[in-house]
Amino acid sequence: MKPIPSLLTDWYRANGRNLPWRETSDPYKIWVSEIILQQTQVAQGLPYYLAFVRTYPTVGDLAAAPVEDVLKLWQGLGYYSRARNMHRAARTVAERWHGRFPQTPEELRTIPGIGPYTAAAVASFAFKVPVPAVDGNVCRVVARCTGLTDPVDTAAGRKMVEETARGWMASVEPDLFNQAIMDFGAMQCVPAAPHCDVCVLREVCVAFKAGLVADLPAKKMRPKVRDRYFSYIVVRCGGTYYLQQRTGKDIWCGLFEFPLIETDVETAWDRLPATEAWQRWFRGTVPTVSSEVYACVHQLTHQRLHVQFVRVTVGTAPCGDAGWLAVRREDLGSYAVPRVIDRYLQTGIAADSF
Ligand code: SF4
Repeated sequence: MKPIPSLLTDWYRANGRNLPWRETSDPYKIWVSEIILQQTQVAQGLPYYLAFVRTYPTVGDLAAAPVEDVLKLWQGLGYYSRARNMHRAARTVAERWHGRFPQTPEELRTIPGIGPYTAAAVASFAFKVPVPAVDGNVCRVVARCTGLTDPVDTAAGRKMVEETARGWMASVEPDLFNQAIMDFGAMQCVPAAPHCDVCVLREVCVAFKAGLVADLPAKKMRPKVRDRYFSYIVVRCGGTYYLQQRTGKDIWCGLFEFPLIETDVETAWDRLPATEAWQRWFRGTVPTVSSEVYACVHQLTHQRLHVQFVRVTVGTAPCGDAGWLAVRREDLGSYAVPRVIDRYLQTGIAADSF
């Protein structure tokens, strides 16, 4: 029986995914792919990766771009702080490192938005540094193969996974090993119903032999998901709509949205005129409110957004708030907006017969 690292790399050579960022040792392109794939499936992230490296072929090109353009290219991927950090990181590499990525995980981690996983991925894929890149896939494979019952989302459990992976990778090429175990976790040892019946590790897999596959990896309790209630007011005055830019530490910072009324509980659209924000915005005007409301639930990792879009027509410009931007309908698509608003622009507003 071959050792686990060889079984994994043999499996990878026969089954691994052909992905464009695996055919390069350019740390910039590898880094772009890793940032995009942090909370995104490969199939969804691939076109974004291609668009990014086509639009910004070098880290200097990305650093020189306005952040609004970067956010626009990122639109639809979610977790927009990744795009802002990516832009900030590009400027750091361009200025502090003269456009060349450093090679060690420790130096890479001094760059904004690069944590232990991304630093390890870039160092091993681009520079063949023998450091394990531990993500959820790697945790799952290691926990099941070794029968690790410590929760992998604790510092102690993570450390055990990392030490095991480091030991495994000592006998093979670091970039090959990291790619192999990641793909193995993503394609073979998947979270639900892993393919144990055709698995090259089943002879050595502790979880398989002990009937613990469904129980591993162990995780500590997840935080509760928070419900939020967003009513977007799609105000139209002639050919003009209104947007505002999100600020502060909340979700979607820097993105644009329609004027928002957030309430503690679900609020019917015909109750919104009683809110303080509505009264302030439409003081002195007589808005016509459409009874057609576009509503959806938008799921984020720790938040569930109950979103409704309420269409309002006014004959004279509303008072609004200080940050409101008057935008012509044909220009709405040029602003970086959260995905839920982009979907509305594609569908809900298409039904707008103004
Ligand atoms: S036998 Fe099953 S649980 Fe064990 S490594 Fe293979 S796919 Fe994963």
